[in-house]
Amino acid sequence: MPGLYGCLGECRLEAGRNQEAMQCFLMAESQGDRSENVAYRKGLCAVRLANYTVARDSFRQYLGNNSHGRHAKHAQECLAIVEHNFLNQSNDNYLADASKNGIKRWNTNGKPILVYIKADASLKGFHPEYVQLLQQSFMDWTNGTNGAVSFVQTQDPSQAQITCYWTDKQSDFDSSKELGECQNTLSNGYINHSEIKLSTLVGHARDIPTEVFPEAKAVALHEIGHALGLAHSSTSFDIMYPTAAPKGLEFNLTRRDLNTVVALYSINPEQIATASESQIQAFAANGFK
Ligand SMILES: [Zn+2]
Repeated sequence: MPGLYGCLGECRLEAGRNQEAMQCFLMAESQGDRSENVAYRKGLCAVRLANYTVARDSFRQYLGNNSHGRHAKHAQECLAIVEHNFLNQSNDNYLADASKNGIKRWNTNGKPILVYIKADASLKGFHPEYVQLLQQSFMDWTNGTNGAVSFVQTQDPSQAQITCYWTDKQSDFDSSKELGECQNTLSNGYINHSEIKLSTLVGHARDIPTEVFPEAKAVALHEIGHALGLAHSSTSFDIMYPTAAPKGLEFNLTRRDLNTVVALYSINPEQIATASESQIQAFAANGFK
């Protein structure tokens, strides 16, 4: 039946079953299905599977045949990000931007940072998966930087160096658009405690896992970046850019994000200029948003 594999792929993509969705799109193509949905959704699926060459080729194919198609604007945007952030990545970093308020970081001496995660299933919009997404986000920073930073989860809140919790009240954030906040406390020029507050209302409380979970993860990755001492990047779609990437592309660290943390944590602690007491106070009070 023509189009059947394309439809099944779309359903599986919607359900977050990305490997199976990709098989459907490949099957659809092998059966000669050239409908616009197949190339476009195969591109989105490939992004989720971090197969950026396939993603680029799929978006190009879609745009080649559908330059004014329904998804043309989004496909164009996706293609630009895939090429810029994942295929043609320069090996640079944005440490200058990310430390414009002074260099701030942990003095770990190579030890893991202790993380306490407080889950509260009674919160409106809370999904148990949020805990795994957060744990995975910490691991992504570790794996991507070859262990320049590492974390261990503790069950004892009094031991925590980074404390993470969720809230379902938008009024707990400074603005109506924020989905996360990180507040760092400094001691002797180093971060000695971080508090990461995450909203359970990502996806605007729409309960579509494929929309909610990638966004929740992007927010978690961003706030962990702040907890590590990064301020914002001025380049679109780095995870530390203040505005989230378009739907479907919001859940990966860029090479630049990782390079910046590697650079920050390779500076000799003795070379880190200690800010004045008043600067430290102002910085700590304002926190990162
Ligand atoms: Zn931020």
